[in-house]
Formats: sequence, C-alpha cells, structure tokens
Amino acid sequence: MAISKTDNHTLLMENVVSLCKRRGFIFQGSEIYGGLANTWDYGPLGAELKRNIKEAWWRDNLYRRSDMAGLDSAILMHPKVWEASGHTANFSDLSVDCKNCKKRWRPEQAQGKCPQCGSNDLTEARAFNLMYKTHQGAVEDQASLTYLRPETAQGIFVNFLNILDVSRKKLPFGVAQIGKSFRNEITPGNFTFRTREFEQMEIEYFVRPEEADKYYAYWVNERYNWYLRLGIKKQNLRLRPHAKEELAHYARACSDIEYQFPFGWSELEGIANRSDFDLVQHAKFSGKDLSYFDALDKKRIIPYIIEPSGGVDRAALAFLVDAYWEEKVKDENRTVLKFSKELTPVKIAVLPLLKNRPQLVELAKKIYEDLRKHYACVYDDTASIGKLYRRQDEVGTLFCLTVDVQSLDDKQVTVRERDTMKQERISIDKLREYCSEKLNHY
Ligand code: ATP
Repeated sequence: MAISKTDNHTLLMENVVSLCKRRGFIFQGSEIYGGLANTWDYGPLGAELKRNIKEAWWRDNLYRRSDMAGLDSAILMHPKVWEASGHTANFSDLSVDCKNCKKRWRPEQAQGKCPQCGSNDLTEARAFNLMYKTHQGAVEDQASLTYLRPETAQGIFVNFLNILDVSRKKLPFGVAQIGKSFRNEITPGNFTFRTREFEQMEIEYFVRPEEADKYYAYWVNERYNWYLRLGIKKQNLRLRPHAKEELAHYARACSDIEYQFPFGWSELEGIANRSDFDLVQHAKFSGKDLSYFDALDKKRIIPYIIEPSGGVDRAALAFLVDAYWEEKVKDENRTVLKFSKELTPVKIAVLPLLKNRPQLVELAKKIYEDLRKHYACVYDDTASIGKLYRRQDEVGTLFCLTVDVQSLDDKQVTVRERDTMKQERISIDKLREYCSEKLNHY
C-alpha cells in the first residue's frame, strides 16, 4: 500500500477547506446572501467536533481536578471593566486607510501604496482599537456605549470574590470558562484561524506570588501535553517563549503553544503570568477589596494569575489539518480524517450491505437504534458498501459495522476499523461490550 501524505502546503489547506464544506464541517457564513467575509458557520459535523473539543477541555480542566471552578459570564460588561483592564487605551493595532477605496490595511501591508487600488493617497498609520462597540438600550450616546468582550478573562476577574465566596477554594485554584469573544481584526483570514467572532477556552489560575513561576511552568507543560493527548502530532507542536520586549503590558512571562499550520507556525494558545495586574486594577477601578486572606501567613495578599488562553476555532482547525490523511489503496484514493476517538464527530456507522433485503435493513436499524443510545452513530444505506466506507473514512468515523446476509444466520456483523481497515466478525450481542472497550475514554 503506497502512502503519500499531501506535502504541498497550499494544496493541503485547499483540501481541508474543501472537505470541510463538502462534508458539513464548516460553511461560509450567510452563504445564500453571497457570504459575509471571514464569518464561518459550523455545520453538523463541525458543531460536533467543536463540542467534543470543548467537552474534553472542560472534563480535563474541571471534572478531573479538585482545584477548579467553572463560570459562564456575560459577553456585555460594564464599560469600566475595559478601562481597568487597559483595553480601552491599549487594545489596538496600527492601521493605514486608503483614502481612495477606503480599504484598511496593516502598515506593513500598504507600504506607500494601497494593495487593492494602487492609490498612494494613504492616511498616516493610526492606532485602531479592536474592540467592537455597541450601545445598551435605545439611545446611542456616549453614556450607553459598551463593548462586545474581546476576551472571556475579564468575566473571571470581576467574579473573583463571588467565586471565592461560593466555592470556598484556597490558593492555588483556578476558574475556567468557555465563550465567544469579538475582535475587530484588521486582517482576518486563513480560514477560521483569525476571525472577528471566535470562541475562547480560558483558565485564570490564582496563586501565591512566590509560586507564580512554578505554576506558570506547570501550566505551559500541562496545556502542551493536552494537545498531544488529543492526537496532535508532536512534530507539529512547539512552544515559543516570548522575548521580554514582546510581552503585553500586564505580563511577567508568556509562552505560545504553536501549531505548524499549512500557512506556517502560528499561535494556538498562550500561557501568561499576568502578575497581580488584573486584581489590582479592578480593585482600583471598582473600589472593592479584591485581596485574599491567606490563612497560612495570616495576612491579606493579592494573588498572581497564570492564564492559559486558547481558541476553540484554532484548536478545531489544527485538529482538522493534523488529522487529514490521503493514501492510495488498490489504486484508489482514500481520504481519512484520523481524529482521536474522543474528538471524532461520529464514532460508529451501521451499514446494511444490501438495502433491498428488508430483513437485513431491519436488523441493521435495530443495531443502530441500540448503539446510538450510547455513542454518536449514523445509519447509511444510500450507496454501495465501498462508497459508504469512503464516506465514513472522510469524516473520521472510527468503526463501520456492516450487516450482511450471513448476519441473519450467524448473528454476527463485520466490524471495520478506520485506520487499519482491518475487518473482524463480532457477535451482535457482544457489540456493546466491544464498543465500550474500544471507545473508552483515556
Ligand atoms: P494573535 O497574536 O494571533 O492575534 P493573540 O495573542 O492576540 O493572538 P490572545 O489574546 O492570547 O491572542 O488570545 C488567546 C487565544 O484566543 C489565542 O491563542 C487564539 O487561540 C484565540 N484567538 C485570539 N484572537 C483570535 C481570532 N481573531 N480568531 C480566532 N481565534 C483567536
């Protein structure tokens, strides 16, 4: 069997984008209206993939630990939050506007000339705040001005006291949240990599200041290994510690977890030591005491915060690209999404070999009805078996169960495994056991 991984990067990206659309992972947003640039809708399989990523993250960072609490805070927050955090003043990129065609560019893109219309009538480079402005209520004046949050983190900081109160956690402890964030990016692109609306998975981990370095190193390691555990290939993942001059105004240290996307190494997740900046700022702007009574030293302290902050959409894109595999089997192309068993949207497909045999179809449907109570399953009888297998390989289905004429007699089905394509006969009454053994979570 000759195996050839697509190594042409542009082609790989094109193939992934095309598969995403063809098979219902990701569609262009508002497509029937000609599309809204850089917006994407997750189709049936994409929605499952994203859910599985978020569930794995929540489970590993919440349920499997005793030092974490969850939160689901509001997207709209008091405008003072953004003054305290520094976003109103600092959350900006430099941009240059073309006075002729009105297109906006990063300064490095438009060096003296508009890349779109060629005009050299450009504005000076100006800071462009990336926060989405909106207004609360009917009156659109300065007093009603607010923002769509550009990160979920601030929702955690402003709930620090609430969570401390209800959870009675002691340092070190963390708060985790998943939710939408919005940034009016100047240059969105690379499919879902950089969009203006995206989902984040963020942890704010509160520690004693003297333990901040230790927990920073711990979270960098923990988060890096999480991607490996869920199937990302080691050669496509790396850590990039930030140089001092690159650090954000609040950060003592920061490392990016980068993935080797077809368009180059790019950030998947950042882990930062934010010092006591956030709690100090919110205490100052809100007038509330955000200190913590440390029973160990019998004194009040302002905890430091370690923040692992990742994007759900970027993770989904990395998992898609990493899983993409092409090979030739008996002179035919086979495309497979080799997702890990946890992330793959569909675990089992039940396929009757002949759809014009009512008994066979009935048995296949019965197996499907039973298994789907426990696993993400599909039933398909709309093509020949070869085609049905290819269809399932292409979306990453782990097992195909084929019900054939012999199944009616020997009460067994053929189970075909996605990666090896190995087939074995399994007794129908042992299927549940077989699946739970194969699909058990790590
Ligand atoms: P970049 O340098 O790529 O703009 P960032 O350093 O500004 O990213 P953070 O503020 O650290 O990003 O946000 C944390 C995570 O949120 C990122 O690692 C990324 O996964 C995700 N994220 C940030 N901006 C976007 C975006 N525009 N589109 C999709 N995901 C994003």
